[in-house]
Amino acid sequence: MINVTKTFLPPFTEYQDRLQQIWREGWLTNNGPLVKELANELCKYLCVPRLELVANGTLALQLAIKALELTGEIVTTPFTYVATATAIVWEGCTSVFVDIDENTFCINPELIEKAITERTSAILATHVYGNPCDVEKIEKIAQKYNLKVIYDAAHCFGVKINGQSILLHGDVSTLSFHATKLFHTAEGGAVVCRDAKVSERVSLMKKFGHHGENDYFEVGINAKMSELHAAMGLCVLPKVDEIIARRRQCAEYYNEFLDGIGLRWPHIPAGVEYNYGYYPVVFPNHETMMRVREALIKNGIMPRRYFYPSLNTLPYLQQHSYVSCPVSENLASRILCLPMYDSLLKDDILKISKVIKDAIL
Ligand SMILES: *Cc1c(COP(=O)(O)O)cnc(C)c1O
Repeated sequence: MINVTKTFLPPFTEYQDRLQQIWREGWLTNNGPLVKELANELCKYLCVPRLELVANGTLALQLAIKALELTGEIVTTPFTYVATATAIVWEGCTSVFVDIDENTFCINPELIEKAITERTSAILATHVYGNPCDVEKIEKIAQKYNLKVIYDAAHCFGVKINGQSILLHGDVSTLSFHATKLFHTAEGGAVVCRDAKVSERVSLMKKFGHHGENDYFEVGINAKMSELHAAMGLCVLPKVDEIIARRRQCAEYYNEFLDGIGLRWPHIPAGVEYNYGYYPVVFPNHETMMRVREALIKNGIMPRRYFYPSLNTLPYLQQHSYVSCPVSENLASRILCLPMYDSLLKDDILKISKVIKDAIL
């Protein structure tokens, strides 16, 4: 079976060496030496001045909303993973969905202003498949209306725009290091804050608001990363350039084999250094996508309807009633993410492409 993704596992002995280090220290969590080392290495790799490691990407979003003290309405995208929008609702705010751009699949900045009310406190947008949002237009709107900006950068590991990390945009960017992501710690995530004070708040909040031996500064939660998870990250990080290079090669094979059969791809703007985290393809319509999906599954190939459904259609995420987001709903009905991982073989890509072609034509 070929799954949509396959977690990169470092050589077992390398993880074992890290485990031995943990056994020697006898320290499993609470900002241990491996968590500190991983945070340092990630700041270097990602070219960011600071970063707070957390237990997963969902807690990263929740902490971002909490640390920025957001209330009321948060303008967001319906074309993202469900965690983006549920984090808003979980924090007691209201998600206000704005449709996406048909080329980049990220939130359409032209539609944001119409959705802003006096209750709006922030914009929470996703860099979809690692493809950057229109960060400049969003920044301008945020300044005009005095709003905070959070980017769900769960897909953005290593992505650069005009030579700079995409994570430097917005007040806060959040990362996920889940096992299905390009870089992973099995479960994990990070919060990257523009303002050092906000970062300090995240640091306090992720450990119960607890500082020093007996001081409790504010309401917090437990969102700490353990040493065992950091150990995995430290083993995966040195391989990540190689992982990205192999994924890039896979994407090039797909591009070649799937050319000329009427498929569409997201447009990646000029100046973007992409990470090949996903390989999404858009089919001409829902029926064709479903026919191809069935053919793939019959051949032991598991694509993923990602993202599906368009989140504005989920009743529990709606503000008052259904708000139509036609571009997102249409896209969600006919997009598939094809298998994409570093160890995927050229022959597998050839086979997948042949099944797709046969089902389409
Ligand atoms: C994976 C993902 C998340 C959630 O991250 P977890 O680490 O699984 O909690 C949130 N948003 C997006 C866009 C994701 O892809």
